[in-house]
This record gives sequence, C-alpha cells and structure tokens, in this order.
Amino acid sequence: MKIIMLGAPGAGKGTQAKKIAEKYQIPHISTGDIFRANIKNGTELGKKAKTYMDQGLLVPDELVCDLVVDRVKQEDCKNGYILDGFPRTIPQAESLDEALGQMGESLDYAINVDVPDEHIVNRMSGRRACVGCGATYHIVYAPTKKEGVCDVCGAELILRDDDKPETVQKRLSVYHEQTQPLIDYYKGKGILKDVDGTKDMDVVFQAITDILGA
Ligand SMILES: [Zn+2]
Repeated sequence: MKIIMLGAPGAGKGTQAKKIAEKYQIPHISTGDIFRANIKNGTELGKKAKTYMDQGLLVPDELVCDLVVDRVKQEDCKNGYILDGFPRTIPQAESLDEALGQMGESLDYAINVDVPDEHIVNRMSGRRACVGCGATYHIVYAPTKKEGVCDVCGAELILRDDDKPETVQKRLSVYHEQTQPLIDYYKGKGILKDVDGTKDMDVVFQAITDILGA
C-alpha cells in the first residue's frame, strides 16, 4: 500500500500519517528524516543535498525525488509506505510518478486531509507553549489546569510566532499556490481520497481506515 498524504499545514496530516504507519506496519517517510539520515550517513545524495542546505538554498526537485526514490527502494518499503511532506509541487509529483513507473510501481492512494483555512487559523491560534519547559497546550483541546500557567513547571505560556494568525495565513497562501494543485493532479489519476479533517482525530482516522480497508 503506497500512500501520500496531502493537506494544509496544521491540518493534522502528520499525526494521521503516524497512525496509519503504525496500524498498517509500513514506514512513515518524511523528507526531513530522509535528509537527516543521508547527511548523517554521508551518502552521495546526502553530500549533494548538504551543499545546497549549507548555502541556505532549497534542495532541487530532482535531488529530493532521488532521495525519496532511494528510500522507497529499501527493504522495509516492500509492503508499502506513507509519504508525508512530499511531493509538494506538481514537478515533484511528476518526477515521482516517472521514477516509480520505471520501477513498475505506482501510488495507490493520495489522502487529502481537508480543513478550511479559518479552521486552521483558529486551531493554531489556540496553541500555547511554555517558556520554561517547552510543554505545549491548547486553550480548547488541551487546556492547562490554571489559565496561562504551565502544568508541568509553573512557568508562563505564550503564543509562538509560528502559531500567530498572520504567520499561519502566510504558510496557507504558499500551500494554496504550490501544493493544492496536487489535489487536481491526483484526482485526475483517480487515486485522490478526501477526508474531513475538521473532525476529531479518531474520527478522521476511522474515515481513513474505511478507505484503506482494515
Ligand atoms: Zn513548563
């Protein structure tokens, strides 16, 4: 079962990807993890990627795709895998399809965790982080016992810059511009599956397992 996860930043697709990986016993593959592993192991691809990252440049699509394809060729991926955070753009999706095609393979599902922007902005702006120990909370979904004070260490809670509405809105614009076209791309391939990501985490996961089959 070869799956890719789609969804806006903050839609909760990473959490769902982890749960899917656990239930179906397939590796959860994120590009960040692949980069780190290749750089740590000093592979050819890792060295190439590092030269871009050291200069603060984006790693080119082709190289990212090579790294991903190299990863999915490994033994633990033979029963499938779940890709999280790749592809991000149409050119990346096309490179991936081409590379998989050469291996005689193709993706089975593109799962789109669908959450409206306003909902994501609201969700993120309710997050709070402890300035002392880094514990995270949510004013609605995971509140502290005493408002504004960390349960663990008693320090003050703040709304991180990353979670502020204007920052979230900016990330969402980039997403709509670059990544949302993938929804139509995979719809065209007949493998797109939408799930309503506004529901509780467990309900969303149930919807996904209904699609994938128990
Ligand atoms: Zn704390």
